[in-house]
Amino acid sequence: MTTDVFQSTSDFDQKHLWHPYASLPPTYRNIVIDHADGIYIVTQDGTRLIDGMSSWWASVHGYNHPALNEAIVQQLGKMAHVMFGGLTHQPAIDLGKKLLDIVPAGLDAIFYADSGSIAVEVALKMALQYQVAAKRPTKQQFASTHSGYYGDTWHAMSVCDPVNGMHSLYGKQLPMQHFVPAPPLGFERALTTEDRTALSQFFVEHGAQLAGFIIEPIIQGAGGMRFYSPEYLQLLRELCDEHDVLLIADEIATGFGRSGKLFACEHADITPDIMTLGKALTGGYMTFAATLCTRKVADTIHHSDYPALMHGPTFMGNPLACTVACASIDLILSYDIEARTANMQAIMEQQLSPAEQLAGVAEVRCLGAVAVIELHEAVDMPIFQSLLIEHDIWVRPFGKLVYIMPPYIITDEELITLCQALLKVVRTYLENRGQP
Ligand SMILES: *Cc1c(COP(=O)(O)O)cnc(C)c1O
Repeated sequence: MTTDVFQSTSDFDQKHLWHPYASLPPTYRNIVIDHADGIYIVTQDGTRLIDGMSSWWASVHGYNHPALNEAIVQQLGKMAHVMFGGLTHQPAIDLGKKLLDIVPAGLDAIFYADSGSIAVEVALKMALQYQVAAKRPTKQQFASTHSGYYGDTWHAMSVCDPVNGMHSLYGKQLPMQHFVPAPPLGFERALTTEDRTALSQFFVEHGAQLAGFIIEPIIQGAGGMRFYSPEYLQLLRELCDEHDVLLIADEIATGFGRSGKLFACEHADITPDIMTLGKALTGGYMTFAATLCTRKVADTIHHSDYPALMHGPTFMGNPLACTVACASIDLILSYDIEARTANMQAIMEQQLSPAEQLAGVAEVRCLGAVAVIELHEAVDMPIFQSLLIEHDIWVRPFGKLVYIMPPYIITDEELITLCQALLKVVRTYLENRGQP
């Protein structure tokens, strides 16, 4: 236990390097990390922090994993990169086969993108091209729900939560989209007749303008860490079919087991028309993402006046990323992921539920390998972060939301240690603020 980590911060970093959603210079210092191994992130002064974040949903196998290292080294000796225009390679083909084997049945074509936000951009372009090809020229807009998060690029941003997202900052420059209220909170909560009528009515009013409806299945991540019922997703699937709107499932955060199923769409037993993947796709090793669609979407675009899908990143289909993604999928499939995440959920529920007794805590909720402690007020980050470091854990709250999604390789004992430390941090933090 040490707080020296804040002494080992870098003046250069402080002065010259922007960090995510941060000012320059930042309001508090970034901690310098020397290396990471298994579930531990190790600071420059040797402090070992248990990783509760999987580096934002990505490092699901922990760090420095021998199988992933080996895969990438093997591929490095053959080629780090080659352009995907006019050329292809075995890692891209192998990954494509593996993905089509595991994603919801019906998804059949893959576009490799370079980050999650770009995969979402491609999904939106794909949906628009599809509607043009299907000769439905009025269908040019997109709909989503409140509390969604789809990335930071321009059009991805335009479908994010219009209140808590970045709309107020970029407001008038963003394309206008449509929003329905966030899905009712609660994985087990049945939809009421009013819920159903409201969503159906929205489609009656706006369906003719909609190219697609984008949603994070079952778990809304960065827009609020909210869990909702599979029934909602099933209703959305029906309404999209009725109104010729493409259902775009953004599984960038939920994909590869995080929600308790390999893909969150499986909870509702639906296949979206378009699906985006990223984050854990490469086990957290490289920036990489994919946009998948059904044969119908691909064929409709193909049999049109503009048969080409107009996107093509320089690093599309990067062989290192494809290779490590293949190795990561092999690991996921070796885990019995549903049992593993069910066990993680049970431990987190048991260990964190005492937080509900604290006056400053609004709710504790867990689903799959995600646990959320929602506070009444936004945390004071510098104070909260110092407490986390003192307790040797790495967690990164935003606003009122303190949440963990640990790597799947964490042992039961380590997970209990993480949860108990987090509980202590929350309790101490609230006590110090006079809200025990
Ligand atoms: C993180 C995230 C994105 C954006 O991915 P980046 O790789 O950060 O661009 C999009 N959608 C969801 C659901 C995400 O969680």
